[in-house]
Amino acid sequence: MYWEKEIETLERKDLEKLQVERLMKTLNQAVHSPYYGRVPEIRKAIKTGINLIEQIRELPFTTKDDLRNDFPWGFLASDKRDVVRLHSSSGTTGNPTAVYHNKHDLNSWANLMARSLFAAGVRDTDVFQNMAGYGLFTGGLGFQYGVEMLGCLSIPAGAGTTVAHAIPSYLGRLYDVFKEEGLDPRKDTKLHTLVIGAEPHTEEHRLRIQEMFGVKAYNSFGLSEMNGPGVAFECTEQNGLHIWEDAFIVEIIDPITLKPVADGEIGELVMTTLDRQAMPVIRYRTRDLTRFLPGECKCGRTHRRLDRIAGRSDDMFIIKGCNVFPMQIEGVLMKLPEVGEDYRILLETIDDQDEMIVEVEVKKDWFKGDLSFLDKLQKHITHLVRDEVLVRPLIKLVEPGSIPKNEGKAVRVFDHRKK
Ligand code: ADP
Ligand code: ZN
Repeated sequence: MYWEKEIETLERKDLEKLQVERLMKTLNQAVHSPYYGRVPEIRKAIKTGINLIEQIRELPFTTKDDLRNDFPWGFLASDKRDVVRLHSSSGTTGNPTAVYHNKHDLNSWANLMARSLFAAGVRDTDVFQNMAGYGLFTGGLGFQYGVEMLGCLSIPAGAGTTVAHAIPSYLGRLYDVFKEEGLDPRKDTKLHTLVIGAEPHTEEHRLRIQEMFGVKAYNSFGLSEMNGPGVAFECTEQNGLHIWEDAFIVEIIDPITLKPVADGEIGELVMTTLDRQAMPVIRYRTRDLTRFLPGECKCGRTHRRLDRIAGRSDDMFIIKGCNVFPMQIEGVLMKLPEVGEDYRILLETIDDQDEMIVEVEVKKDWFKGDLSFLDKLQKHITHLVRDEVLVRPLIKLVEPGSIPKNEGKAVRVFDHRKK
């Protein structure tokens, strides 16, 4: 059932006790870094001690810009000789941030990754294919070492794959390739589990992926500043992402007031590393928007569950006075069987008016030049999107495969408006 039963099912009060202990250890380590060495609240907390987890709120936040500004060595808390690996974020919202690991850090990360995969039902008898890019991006080696620790056979690619990891936007394209080759991934593979993550996606998109491949797809969440994958993962109950609280302190704050949100409300995820030596990060503002899910999970794990990430605070755009998240639009599109695997949102100024153009790929079987059908579909999508985001979009139906693909994470929004 569990990779590490004791820690995964630890009673909440013991889990919090462990967190406080590990937080003190982390602060004592962090203070060796030039950046945290300058933070008076950290010095004070070390002197007076922390007894309650809530006292973490007395420490200042760390932002992506802090990490960027103090590159390369500002956050390094150990001897440079001990550092054995550098990773960086993908740079989705600006300059990538760099993260250093020593041997202990890599080992504990691999363990979290193995624990996560095990929770999603992956076993040492599985053949694992990782379709994420290897390199500075954490989705490559992060999975690799976790899969090896779990004991799966990992292969670069092959017909024997039973479990695969990929970013959701990639799987749509992969499915199209299967189809073009005259293959059906439901029948022509040995796949029984998919792991999907690294970019925002909707429940509708997940259901579609499960339908295409005929297997369960488990949500995997992580960010390079907190190692990478293996931060939070769905168990086989598929009802939210268990976030590993022995390794991280998790807070959800209102991004404006910076105070904790009420239980169960959506806010910005803030995280503190508890088991990292080379580069501890304290109260990191992830910019990811989510909420804690109420209740306990049937699987028996006591680590709290996060709701699917609604998007990043940076993803939101304002058009005609309305706040819009791309995932709201994706949720509408992915429900429609006629809609293909890709879409993008273009914000343009047309005749001095800001417009939201949504390009939507239509599935091959439906894109047959029956103009009245396409006209109806176009109107239908226009209504649905308008009802969802309260702005009337210009829907442009396009051929399957015609939207340019980004290498790595999908880019959904292109803002060409005159400012
Ligand atoms: P970048 O922030 O530059 O993309 P990373 O490669 O470290 O750098 O990616 C981490 C980010 O990816 C997270 O902060 C989050 O925004 C997004 N992400 C990762 N996993 C998921 C997921 N399962 N669902 C939604 N978003 C995710
Ligand atoms: Zn569970």
